[in-house]
Formats: sequence, C-alpha cells, structure tokens
Amino acid sequence: MASGYVYHPIYLEHDLRGHPENQQRLKTILRVLDRHGMLPRLVPIEAEPISAERLERVHTPRYIAQVQRVAQQGGGHLDADTYVRPASYDAALMAAGGLVEATRAVLDGEVGNAFALVRPPGHHALAGRGMGFCLFNNVAIAARYALAERDVERVLIVDFDVHHGNGTQDEFEADPAVMYVSTHQYPHYPGTGHWRETGTGEGQGSLVNVPLPGGVGDEGFARIFDEVIGPAAWRFQPQLILVSAGYDAHWDDPLAYLQLSVGGYAAIARALYNLAAELCQGRLVFTLEGGYHLEALGYSILNTFAVLLGDEAWELVDPLGPSPRGERPIDDVIAQVRQIHNLSH
Ligand SMILES: [Zn+2]
Repeated sequence: MASGYVYHPIYLEHDLRGHPENQQRLKTILRVLDRHGMLPRLVPIEAEPISAERLERVHTPRYIAQVQRVAQQGGGHLDADTYVRPASYDAALMAAGGLVEATRAVLDGEVGNAFALVRPPGHHALAGRGMGFCLFNNVAIAARYALAERDVERVLIVDFDVHHGNGTQDEFEADPAVMYVSTHQYPHYPGTGHWRETGTGEGQGSLVNVPLPGGVGDEGFARIFDEVIGPAAWRFQPQLILVSAGYDAHWDDPLAYLQLSVGGYAAIARALYNLAAELCQGRLVFTLEGGYHLEALGYSILNTFAVLLGDEAWELVDPLGPSPRGERPIDDVIAQVRQIHNLSH
C-alpha cells in the first residue's frame, strides 16, 4: 500500500530567523528525503486551507480572528516564544488543512498511511490561545474532522514529542471518542502531563500520560510501547491512529534531555505501524510537531517513511548514532501508569 506525504511551500513562509522553529526544519527534511531517493516513492497529497467550519470545531472565532489580525498587521508574538509573521495565518490554515487532507486520503483508501510535513506545529495550541510555537492545533482539528464527517467513532492520538501536548489534552480530556497518549519529559514545558491526569467526566481513562525523567532512551521507549501504549490501544480499539510526531526527544536535540536515537524513532514508527495494522486496517497519519536538531529530524523522518512503506530491505540510515550517554531506567513510571490505567492483565 502506498504512503502519502503533504507539503506546501507556504509552510516555509512562517519563519523567524534565530527561532528554533524555523523554515530550515522543513528544508532539511525535504533535502534528506531527496538525497536518499525517498520522495519519488511517496504519493504527494495536495494541501488545502482549512475551512472555517473545521477550524472552529477546535478554536474560538475570537482567537482565529486574532491570529489573522496579527498577521495582517505585519506580525508579532502571541507569547514570548510563539511568533506570527505576515504569512503565518495562511500557513497555519494550510497546515491544519494539509493534515486533514492526509487524513482524508487515508480514510478514502487513496494511500495506506501518510505523513503531513507541515508547519507551524500544533499540539500546544489551546482553543482560545496559541502557545509553544503553535498557532492552530492540527492534530485536534484532524481528529474532530474524522469524528464529525467520517465514519469514525474512536481516534487514538499518540504524541511522542518531548513536550506534553497540553492543547490536545485540553481538547479531548472529557471526550471518550479520543484517546490521547503522550510520552514527554517531565517536569518540563508546558508543565502538564502528570500520570495522574487521566481524563475527566465521560473521558475518564482516555488520557494516558507517560511523564519521563531526563535520560530515557530507545530501550525505555520500546518498553513503553510494549507495556503501556500497546495494551491501552488494544483496549480502546481505535479506527484511526493520528501521531503528533516530535523529534525533540532525540539525544542531541537542544531543547530537552531525553535520549532517543534515530533508530529509536524508527522503532517507534514500527510499533505504531504494527498497531495500526492490527487494530485499524493500517490507518495511520503522522503530523510534524517539534524537533530542533536538523539532521536528527531529517533522518528520523527518512527512516519513518521506510517503515510506513513496509520496506523490508531498508537499512537504518543514522549519521548521528546512538546516544553516548547511558539510559535511565523507568520501571517506576511504567508501573505507575500501568496501575492507574489498570493495564496489568
Ligand atoms: Zn516539542
């Protein structure tokens, strides 16, 4: 089955020199994919700007108008680290619309799975407020699209960005139709994501937070997928898996202290690919969130595409190698998360 990708040049126009979340991230990804002959193997999916109706399922009209106004007035900041440039509003509409198109293409069976290479990222964006480099919450908008317009009743969102996706959690914490699973460094920005945060009201149990101390790496993540994410996903029985794919948990990323390698990211992609195959006819859609070491970002995504293509002959390409530091064990975190979610069989 084919793998699709979304890209649009407007994603480069949301850019601020000297800011870690800049256009070089996407340029590097495309350069690495091109250099290794990956792009011709993928099906391009055309992005469209998100419609107001789809955007307003997640964001308030007042906030949407604010982003548009700041962009039209020449740009500015929504908070200390979240910038808006003149093209940012259109780029953000196209980012959310690009992920929705990727989701549509997978649900329509045009491709087996897809990766939306979009910017700006989304998982910190709240209904009425942008933060953490994020303007509109792309993954939340795509999940709402699938639930509202498609024959989908349960969506699993897996977020392996090193930061907790507080915006996504906020959108779905009371909603039993969406299970949100996040691995993240903790305590760290934005401060949410304790394992005790498990959902509210009817959504009780549908948030699975896996807060990690610095130093957790490939082996720890493999255990988390085996012992937490896999069992939780099997119990939930999703019909679609969306992935907030952040590559800032790489050992050489400048923004945090987890220890994943490019190979560890490929193993995560494999685990998700297998889960989607077992649970939902392979329906798996990745969307780009963070990741600020350019090579780690590019090569992690290159290898992820090889996994998504089911390329058995592929050999890992990782110029950065494994973490030079030892891994921190995480038996206690895994035990706590398994206990609060009743994952012990
Ligand atoms: Zn991040």
